[in-house]
This record gives sequence, C-alpha cells and structure tokens, in this order.
Amino acid sequence: MNKVLNIERERVLVVDDKLQHRELLKALLDKEGYDVTAVSDGEEALIKIGSVVPDLILLDLKMPGIDGFEVCRRLKSQDETRDTPVILLTCTTETESVTRGFDAGAADYVTKPCDNKVLLARIRAHLALFTKTKRLMLFAERDALTNLANRRRFDEFLELEWRRAKRGQTLIAMLLLDIDYFKAYNDTYGHLEGDRVLQDVAKEIKNTCNRPGDLYARYGGEEFAVIFGNITKGAAEIIAERLRRKIEALRIPHKASSISDVLTVSIGVSSIVPSKEDPPTNLISLADKHLYEAKNGGRNRVI
Ligand code: GH3
Ligand code: MG
Ligand code: MG
Repeated sequence: MNKVLNIERERVLVVDDKLQHRELLKALLDKEGYDVTAVSDGEEALIKIGSVVPDLILLDLKMPGIDGFEVCRRLKSQDETRDTPVILLTCTTETESVTRGFDAGAADYVTKPCDNKVLLARIRAHLALFTKTKRLMLFAERDALTNLANRRRFDEFLELEWRRAKRGQTLIAMLLLDIDYFKAYNDTYGHLEGDRVLQDVAKEIKNTCNRPGDLYARYGGEEFAVIFGNITKGAAEIIAERLRRKIEALRIPHKASSISDVLTVSIGVSSIVPSKEDPPTNLISLADKHLYEAKNGGRNRVI
C-alpha cells in the first residue's frame, strides 16, 4: 500500500506476452506519469508483485505458462493483493473468458487493441476507487482518538499470530495495560484532558513496542494491548517494565491517584506456546489475570 498517498507516483504493472502490446502500453502509461513496470508472463508478474505490490495491474488473459486467470486467482487469495484492481486485457472474441475473468476477481476488462482514452479513463477510475477503499480499510482498523490499531484489528492480528505460533511451536506474548485511577483522573481534570492522556500513553506505547511485527492497539476505553510475536518471556517483561517506567516518567500530574502524584499504569504480561486446542483468547485471559493481580498488588507495576 502506498504510504504517502498522492505523493508517490501510482504503480502500474503491465503483464503481456506480446512485446509490441507491452511496449505500447508502457509508453502510454509512462507518458501519463505512472510508475510502470512491464513483464512478459504470469510467473514473472507474481515474482514482481511479491516484492512490490502495484496499485493496479493490467493483465493479459492469454499467456503461456501461468495464464491471466490463474494470476488473478492467486492475487485474490492473498491478503496483500486481494484489493489490488486487476484490469484484464482480452481479444474481442473472448466474451466467455471475460466472465471467467470477473469470477477470478478482476475489476474490469479492456479489449485489444484498445482505445487509449478509454483505457486511461478506466485506469483512473479504478485507481481512485482503490484509494478510497484503502482509506476506508485504514479507518476500519484504527482507533480515531489514538490512531493505534483498534480492537477489531487486534483480534484479527492475534488470530493470525496465534496460528503462526501454533504451527511453528513458538512463543507468543502480549501485554495488557490499564491506566490507574483513570476515572478519578477524568473527574478531576475533565474528559478532554483525559483524552489527551490517552494520546500520550498511546505515543509512549508506539515508541516503546516497536519491534518489527509487534502490534499495539487500543483494546478498550483506557486499556491498551500489545502483541509480541516470536519473543522470549523475559524480553516481553522487560519491554513492559520499560513502558511502565516511561509512562511514569512523563510525570503527568494526577492528584486524585491514591498511589502516586503522577499518572501510572498497571500491566499484565502473558506468554504461551499454543497447544493444539488452545484458543487465542487464552493469551488475553492470562494477561487479564496478571493485570488484575497487578491492580490488587498495589498498581503501578508489571506482573
Ligand atoms: P483502576 O485503577 O482500577 O484501573 O481504576 P480506573 O478508574 O482507571 O478504572 P475504571 O474502569 O473504574 O474507569 C475507567 C475510566 O476510563 C472510566 C472512563 O470514563 C474512562 N474512559 C474510558 N474511555 C475513555 C475515553 O475515550 N476518554 C476518556 N477521557 N476517558 C475514558
Ligand atoms: Mg479499565
Ligand atoms: Mg484503569
């Protein structure tokens, strides 16, 4: 996915076994300002897409080796490329193929030789739609206040990581963080100030739990969660303790707290090598249990 929408040039991949078609399309799209790559068969296309996912694919249906249908099917079965628009390039006689192409997940088709203006209009329309889709997908998995992943994204990610850990029999760990006496904080300083604190805590989580593959999320109102894939139990606890200290070191005044004059958090850490029957919720329940113990043990601590 383009990190900086509208600043990077949009990437279009052209897949056609005919040199002449490839070159014409490439020249046309280059001229329009797209970042174009052209390849001659399905295999090469899949390799290219595996390293850089384009924003749109122009895909010839009939090619030797892996044909357009198969390329399309494979793209639609992978998370990274499921929503990437694919426009099929077909010959006029292939109406039945077009239907099959749509069944395989194509967004549109154009017949060769194509009218350049129509082709460009279709490309623009599909790219615009794709940009909107990406934005909506981003909204659907973000928490609006903190911009961290939301609960839905957390659950989805946990499910995936849990399966991966189960397959590889590796350890998966998480932490559950809850702000201490946050209700009293709101009552004392107001809800808006409380919102600002949630943003500060989120920022600290983002800066502290940033190993590649970590997922940090707003789990609920004033609770945050982090999933650590492929980590040792000791390392997860060290990161959790570092996070607790960093939040305390922000020295956010909290005169209504019974245990400190600044804002503190309690953290429960859990780690499991999943056995066959374990559901992923086991990891959450264990973290929750430890969080409860941290609260009962006096708060402002990691268990
Ligand atoms: P404990 O130390 O036991 O965790 O006590 P607590 O007061 O933090 O816990 P409790 O569950 O009683 O209160 C949680 C508070 O979090 C209550 C609620 O108003 C506040 N909260 C939840 N979501 C938000 C939010 O989005 N913004 C603000 N400002 N406050 C929120
Ligand atoms: Mg709570
Ligand atoms: Mg709390």
